Amino acid sequence: MEGVFTGGCQCGAVRFRAEKLGRPSICHCRMCQKAFGSFFGALVTADQAHLTWTRGQPSLFGSSAKVKRGFCNKCGTPLTYHAGEHIELAIGAFDHPALLEPQVQVNHDQRLPWIDHLFEKPAATSPEMEAFFASVVSNQHPDHDTAVWPPEED
Ligand SMILES: [Zn+2]
Repeated sequence: MEGVFTGGCQCGAVRFRAEKLGRPSICHCRMCQKAFGSFFGALVTADQAHLTWTRGQPSLFGSSAKVKRGFCNKCGTPLTYHAGEHIELAIGAFDHPALLEPQVQVNHDQRLPWIDHLFEKPAATSPEMEAFFASVVSNQHPDHDTAVWPPEED
């Protein structure tokens, strides 16, 4: 996939621009579960030569002898998977993740036992929850590049 795909961490300290992406996937391995603090990792391969860190850089943790995991050291957002020169970017960190529908499941045999039924669960809502969400004032970086971030305090 070629185009301009931007993204970054929740606080905006780390931002990237990728102009050539490969196949989006999810990975069920235990290391991806831990690295994302979630049920699986969601990653898309990126061409290193067409990837620019436009603000900051991810910090790296060597999760194994072969793989490093990149994250923002200010807000903790998982951002990358590195195996040698191979790099993948966390789909949820993109400004427009809806463009990156996963095409395959990696390590399918390691998936959580209830994962296949996850989206059969009922949607939860209540007036209290709606009022809470409506009252939220976000500190999250917006889903587009900005000249100055965070905004100047008044
Ligand atoms: Zn951050």
